[in-house]
Order: sequence, then structure tokens, then C-alpha cells
Amino acid sequence: MGFIVAVDGPAGSGKGTITKKIAEEMNLTSIDTGAMYRSVTLAMLKRNIKVDEIDKISNLLEQIKIEFKKIENDQKVFLNGKDVSLEIRTKQVNENVSPVSAIGIVRTKMADLQREMAKTIDVIMEGRDIGTNVFPNADVKIYLDATPEERAKRRYLQNKENGIEIPFEEILENVKQRDYIDSTREIAPLKKAEDAIYIDSSNMSIDEVVNEIKQIIIKKRTE
Ligand code: C5P
Repeated sequence: MGFIVAVDGPAGSGKGTITKKIAEEMNLTSIDTGAMYRSVTLAMLKRNIKVDEIDKISNLLEQIKIEFKKIENDQKVFLNGKDVSLEIRTKQVNENVSPVSAIGIVRTKMADLQREMAKTIDVIMEGRDIGTNVFPNADVKIYLDATPEERAKRRYLQNKENGIEIPFEEILENVKQRDYIDSTREIAPLKKAEDAIYIDSSNMSIDEVVNEIKQIIIKKRTE
């Protein structure tokens, strides 16, 4: 196993942006595990598979291939060879991803894939259960938080940048709903690992958060 930095936190806490920056600056590979759950959700929606159709989901999990590829310095997500980086951010996926992520066999498969990905490389992996479940022995654990309003605002602006128009109120509602499902589910819920460092980024700039986490990593690497 390589060096592992686990970054967990609710939707829109800045995990994605911050993780990518730190990866570039510190020679780590960033892995967006939310994109993996989103890809499974997209695949289920396309095949019209419902969350209680466990046999069909099990079949699907055996067939699908999720890959990350760096294209022009941007990390893209491929589902069975097709770039789905934008398609996994639609309203329909937003609304279905949390119930899909609560399914046991989906979580087991994704966690296995995530452990496999980190076998030979140094990674910074972001998600909901990385420090608690996927890598309980991660070298560094961060729990990144911010108020729901601030997080919804960030998602709204991020979507706009990507040409996706979803009203702010709708995003805020979705963020709150996903937080609720993610933190109350039975298997690997969203929660701070006991030994994770808590950072509230509500009133911090991206660079401030990046620098704080970088210092923590540097300290750990030199131990
Ligand atoms: O990070 P992002 O908001 O894109 O994640 C989408 C959804 O994927 C989350 O709301 C959560 O339901 C699920 N997820 C998860 N475990 C992870 C990463 C994401 O359950 N490690």
C-alpha cells in the first residue's frame, strides 16, 4: 500500500477542488470516489434498474468498468469506455445517487475497487467513508465541513462553470437531503473518523484549506 490521504465530508465541502490541487502540488493521485457511486447510479438509470432489484444490480456490478483518465490535465471518468464526466453531474443522478450508495453490494464493490487503485500508488482519496471504512489506517485523515448554504453555493457556481443550470434552492435541498441519507444509512455512513482532523472551510479560501492540509501531510511524511 502506498501513502494514503483520506478526505471525507458532506456534499460541496470543497473536497474535490482541494483534493485535486493537493494531488498536483504533492505528487499524489487524486481519486474522486463520489464519481464512482455516480457512475453506478448512471448505469442503473440507463438500464432502468431500481434500488431493490439486487440481482440485477449484482449483475451490473460484474459488468461495469469505471476508470479515471487524465486528459489535458483534467481528470475524466469513464464508464465502460465512455467519458461520463458531465453526465454523472445531472439532476437525475444527484437525486438518485444517495439511495444507490446505501446498497450494501454497491459499497462493497466500490470499496474493493478503491483499495485496488491505491495498492501501488500514493493517493489522496475523497468521499464519505474513506477514513472510517475504506482505509481505517490511512496515513492522514481529514474531515472537511462547511455550512449547507455555503456548500450549496459552491455546487451552484461549479455547475455554472460546467454549463449545468440548476437553481440554487434546488441544489440546497438536494445537498441537505443527500447529507441526511448519507449520514443515517446503515452501512459506512458519512461521519468523522475519531482520528480525523476536522476543518470547517465555511470562511476559508481554497488556498487556505489547501495549505493547512499540505502542512499536515508534510509533517506526516517526515515522521
Ligand atoms: O462526492 P459527491 O457529492 O459527488 O458524491 C455523490 C454521492 O456518492 C454522495 O452523496 C454519497 O451518497 C455517495 N458517496 C458515498 N461514499 C463515498 C463517496 C460518495 O456514499 N465514499
